[in-house]
Amino acid sequence: MSEPYFWWTDKQKSVAREVEQFVEENFEAAEEYFWKKEFPWPLVRKVADTGYFGAGIPEEYGGLELGATGCCIVAEQLGRLYAVGHVFVVSMLAGLEQILRYASEEQKQEWLPKLAKGEELGAVCITEPFAGSDAANVLTTAERDGDEWIINGKKRYITGAGVSSRYFIYAKTSEESSDRKEYSHLTSFILERGMPGFSLERINPLIGFDNVPNGYLSFKDVRVPDKNRIGPVGKGWNVMMAGLNFERLIAGAVFVGVLKDIIRILYHYTKRRIQFNRPTNRFQGNQDQIADIISMYRMGRVFTYHCAKQLDDGKEPMIDSAIAKMIVSEYVRKAGTKAIQVMGGDGLTKFYPVERILREGKVGEIVAGTTDVQKMIIYRFSSMLPEYTKPMRMRWNEKVNAPIISDSESQFKGMEVNVENILKVIAHDYKVNPGLYMTIDDIREDIGTSRSKTRTIVEKLEEQGLVVIHRGRGGTIELIKATYKGLQQAFPEDYYRWYPDWYAESDKF
Ligand SMILES: Cc1cc2nc3c(=O)[nH]c(=O)nc-3n(C[C@H](O)[C@H](O)[C@H](O)COP(=O)(O)OP(=O)(O)OC[C@H]3O[C@@H](n4cnc5c(N)ncnc54)[C@H](O)[C@@H]3O)c2cc1C
Repeated sequence: MSEPYFWWTDKQKSVAREVEQFVEENFEAAEEYFWKKEFPWPLVRKVADTGYFGAGIPEEYGGLELGATGCCIVAEQLGRLYAVGHVFVVSMLAGLEQILRYASEEQKQEWLPKLAKGEELGAVCITEPFAGSDAANVLTTAERDGDEWIINGKKRYITGAGVSSRYFIYAKTSEESSDRKEYSHLTSFILERGMPGFSLERINPLIGFDNVPNGYLSFKDVRVPDKNRIGPVGKGWNVMMAGLNFERLIAGAVFVGVLKDIIRILYHYTKRRIQFNRPTNRFQGNQDQIADIISMYRMGRVFTYHCAKQLDDGKEPMIDSAIAKMIVSEYVRKAGTKAIQVMGGDGLTKFYPVERILREGKVGEIVAGTTDVQKMIIYRFSSMLPEYTKPMRMRWNEKVNAPIISDSESQFKGMEVNVENILKVIAHDYKVNPGLYMTIDDIREDIGTSRSKTRTIVEKLEEQGLVVIHRGRGGTIELIKATYKGLQQAFPEDYYRWYPDWYAESDKF
């Protein structure tokens, strides 16, 4: 059995045991559906009977109320049943968090019990032919007509397309550029299979997702009652964002159990394969690859549940959920490649699931926001954290006669704030960081003055050709460095010289 973490509740631990048992019992059936390229309806219905579709839904709406942790526990195991795991995930992504946070009580009563029962599957529909990573750029429109909305447009790459009954879509309800700028141009709706004008346009043959339907949807004058609108008009972007951390987390969690299956396959296989008169598990190279996969599994798993705990504690782990999704999908791709290497030709055949795992990892790096987009989020949101952005200033240290990272005050602090001294601050920074510019804040911190005064003086220095200013959009001063003329004017040549002790006098000039 997979290790339960110490912070899980008893209920979460017991569901973890049950769902793992369920998966072990149904593993072979899932493989059969994969081989037949058939959508595993009977298995999906079996999962529905267990109530696992309600993992994240409060008990009052018929769910198991296991929180984000419980959803990950179920996703981790169901992901091992391949198509079943994928539809479980998209069904949860098709509005669970959005309904919990944005729907009226009446809507919750209508939709949540259906979601919990898992009798009908759900799909989440953000992506369009002309809107991928740039998810706000959807072109599908929703126009109000009395108590109804008329939807026109297309969606693509929708997992569960066709087999799902419920489609959580985002459509444009405003053409105003001001609304677009403020992200108030979108509204979210639930569309149901069978609504006139709503059709399945295409099913994609993909690198992975062998028996998981993924395709295009078309909306031609589809009339949707206003009661199917989730959240206020113009708040679709907020609705989409509301579930994003949960969605990323689950999109990664579904691959965690697969990583362990690779390890099991490799232990089993390499014990039974003899080359050079030895089982292949005796070769250090193969052990290294398996050790790498074990490390990835353990790291990916613990990070996933660490992130789930944060969500359950009411936090919004924007950075960690992006990391969880990114690392787990990367790990699966890497582990798939390594596993094939360990198994040689057998790894490349479809008789062993490792080649499939490699393909799935690649899919994981694109779905639910590409790895590049996750990195963009990680970088952007981290750049708002003082723990990362608190400057690490270098200062000239007279004792060691070298620039070192230092918290001490600048030697210019308290000097009169004038053109000459500010030029000295900037020129001195050349001695400390010869290739870097200074910010306005660096300069004012060094000498101790206001931003506006620093700006005025720096502009004077620029007029005299003593500094160069790098300006941002709108002409704002962003960075400053001394020109060679400025360096000459600020200090004598000797000021900038520096040689290590061992450097011969005779070689200096
Ligand atoms: C198997 C599968 C299942 C899917 N399931 C669903 C689903 O159920 N529902 C749904 O709505 N969507 C779904 N998608 C769509 C998926 O979310 C998108 O494919 C994904 O967000 C990327 O969009 P795109 O394919 O249009 O690529 P593009 O956005 O065109 O990106 C192309 C490349 O440019 C890079 N890029 C784009 N913008 C930036 C940027 N700002 N900075 C750095 N790099 C950037 C991307 O990382 C990528 O490498 C699915 C996709 C696949 C393949």
